[in-house]
Amino acid sequence: MRWSYQIARIFGIPIRVHLSLILFLGLIIMWGGGLRGLLLMVAIFGSVLLHELGHALVAKSKGLPIADISLYPFGGMARMTMPPKTSGDEIQVAAAGPMVSLVLALGFSAMALASQTPFLTTLAQVNLLLGLFNLVPALPMDGGRILRAFLARRWGYYRATTASARVARWIAAAMGFAGLFWSGWLIVIALFVFFMSMAEEGMARARHFMGDPGYQDTGQGRVFDPFRRFAESSGFRPSGSDWEVFEAGSSTTESAERKRPHIVIEWQDKRDP
Ligand code: ZN
Repeated sequence: MRWSYQIARIFGIPIRVHLSLILFLGLIIMWGGGLRGLLLMVAIFGSVLLHELGHALVAKSKGLPIADISLYPFGGMARMTMPPKTSGDEIQVAAAGPMVSLVLALGFSAMALASQTPFLTTLAQVNLLLGLFNLVPALPMDGGRILRAFLARRWGYYRATTASARVARWIAAAMGFAGLFWSGWLIVIALFVFFMSMAEEGMARARHFMGDPGYQDTGQGRVFDPFRRFAESSGFRPSGSDWEVFEAGSSTTESAERKRPHIVIEWQDKRDP
């Protein structure tokens, strides 16, 4: 049985709808939402689709291939087959979705004010929520990706991911707690953020161990102890007490990384107070 169905192709990107979303829309009609409810849901998922297209088109312009955009009952997802190459690319790709939503919110607000149509007011509210909620700095949400990319400029990809994932779990805990009094959806999202932040951290750790700097412009950041031992035992560590130093972001780092795709360790202690 297939779980998602392609419904369109926009700018060469397949748009897929998950079976659970089709069932969800069916339930809305059955529960008395009627045609009006269905129309509203379609407009909401259209807004989600435009949000995802914002991510996908900016990613495409950065040379990142997009596998597809999938729509689920809890939102959408633009799947990239390659992560952003630099922290700048990550920030632009992550910010594009919420920017689209906020522009749509402004547009629908103007139309709602002009026409006094409740339908348009709801769409403006939904897009405002989509834009603001996704900017919450909880990895893997858009805001969390932006936070990680900014932190990486100082700390390197791995440490920035670990720190952002920790922030995400605190936010998830707060969200889950608020959800107990407010809405079950918040609990679902909190669980999603909690487990996905751990997955992001695990992925970053794997890349770190493979010597992948994450972002090409930030270096890897400070190493932690097990890695230090591994590096020492493999004879990588040069003589003396200092680690081999590459200054993040400098041209020597980049050329050194490209020529020798080995483990790059950035000296951090000098800059950290
Ligand atoms: Zn987004």
